[in-house]
Amino acid sequence: MPSKNRTAPAVVLVEKNRLPIVDEVELENPGPGEVLIDLRASGICHTDLGAVRDARTCPVVLGHEGAGIVSVVGAGVTHVAPGDHVVVNWQPKCGNCRRCQSGRSDLCDQITGTAAPRVFWHGEPIAVLLQAGTFCSAVVVSAAGAVPIRRDLPFDQAALLGCAVATGVGSALFTAKVQPGDTVAVLGVGGVGLNIVQGARLAGASHIIAVDISDERLQFAQPFGATEGFNANLPDLVDRIRNITKGRGLDFVFEVVGSPALMRTAVDMLGRGGELVLVGAAARDAVFAFAPRRFMSNQQVVRGSIYGNIRPALHLPLFADWCIDGRLNVKGLASQSISLEDVPGLFATPGGLRGIRTIIEWPAPHDSQVVASNPQI
Ligand SMILES: [Zn+2]
Ligand SMILES: [Zn+2]
Repeated sequence: MPSKNRTAPAVVLVEKNRLPIVDEVELENPGPGEVLIDLRASGICHTDLGAVRDARTCPVVLGHEGAGIVSVVGAGVTHVAPGDHVVVNWQPKCGNCRRCQSGRSDLCDQITGTAAPRVFWHGEPIAVLLQAGTFCSAVVVSAAGAVPIRRDLPFDQAALLGCAVATGVGSALFTAKVQPGDTVAVLGVGGVGLNIVQGARLAGASHIIAVDISDERLQFAQPFGATEGFNANLPDLVDRIRNITKGRGLDFVFEVVGSPALMRTAVDMLGRGGELVLVGAAARDAVFAFAPRRFMSNQQVVRGSIYGNIRPALHLPLFADWCIDGRLNVKGLASQSISLEDVPGLFATPGGLRGIRTIIEWPAPHDSQVVASNPQI
């Protein structure tokens, strides 16, 4: 049984519909096939904010978009060693199920966390959001949850690869498989939406139309590759978008907000054979209704997308390369850096996330406290 070897402050959601708190948790050393990562940065994603509304389990340590340095590896872990820079992959695949074996690991039936709880709160095991729990200066993940990347990418950018970039760029390249010349709209250009915009740019889309309720965000979307921008509240939004395609409608619309009303509007923007990709997380009880007749005769598609259908071990290092060579703009996504203690305050203020991505950063070495002597640490 691994020993509990350190304590660290973490953001804990004690129960739904309450503000999370910052409190000490204890972390165990990793078991066989697991990795302990000292985090250096964690982005705050809308899924973390949404957990207050719809967390499956409470209490839970929030956070899932992180990067840091491997501290300890459990028995049998060979793909990383202490000192390696890694991105947290919150969808570690099992590698053994029917889906993994058939080459569709993005549909893995058994996303694998640690073999046993490694984080404790008041002496009891506590859940971690999405096999991660990155609102804490350290995490223990299964081996596939630690993806090594190059060392010259700053951690505040590396962290964003783990959700916003993976989900956004992946949805354009791997879920939708946007082709050169395709026409695209992105409804909601926050952290994920901007990455869909730049994913569509990388794919060579001819029109990339940003739609948002914030004119400021529309401006922000231009350097990421948006060719047009429209405020979502325009009464003739659908007509304006269809006009861009000479009435034909779009090849792809990405809904990144999770709004059933917006999804319905999105269907009206589609052309023949057009595809609506649902990326935004709607409320668990939300219902999306639309008129099916024209949809049927136009041979259209509605598709769900989670984590951009990426293959994390292959694509997260690739995205890191693209950040360094300038193909991806990730630096421009980070709007402010805060400390862990400031996180509950962000949850308290609706719309309190200024800019695009707020990032928790831990200095090196961070202040997690070693409480049991262990020569390995
Ligand atoms: Zn996320
Ligand atoms: Zn699997």
